[in-house]
Formats: sequence, structure tokens, C-alpha cells
Amino acid sequence: MNRNVDVAGPLGLDPALWDVLACPGPDHGAVRPDEETGEIVCSDCGLRFPIRDGIPVMLLDEARPS
Ligand SMILES: [Zn+2]
Repeated sequence: MNRNVDVAGPLGLDPALWDVLACPGPDHGAVRPDEETGEIVCSDCGLRFPIRDGIPVMLLDEARPS
């Protein structure tokens, strides 16, 4: 593994990830980082998704409401 830790974007995730991340719900809304809680928030339905071991868990089962 040749990880470049210098390119970390919001919440320590690869900036390129933010271009492809979307809410898994019916709205498929745009998501944004919540630096306070370290979660990913859907700007449409407000569901919050955790990040585990540096990997966004974009699953409805794992989400919690705002
Ligand atoms: Zn959503």
C-alpha cells in the first residue's frame, strides 16, 4: 500500500471521494462533511453517515437522522 496521507481532504478522506459520494437514499442528495461530529451529512434528507477506519459507510442501515 502506498498511501499518500498529504492529500487528505475533509474528514481525512481523499478529496476525489467527495466528488462521487452521494446519499444512498431515494433523494440521492449531495453530501457534505460535518467536521464537528466527523460524519457525512446528506444536505437533502439530513441523514448522517459514519466513517470507519477512514472509509465512508454510506449505508441506510448505518445512518442516523440529524
Ligand atoms: Zn439523503
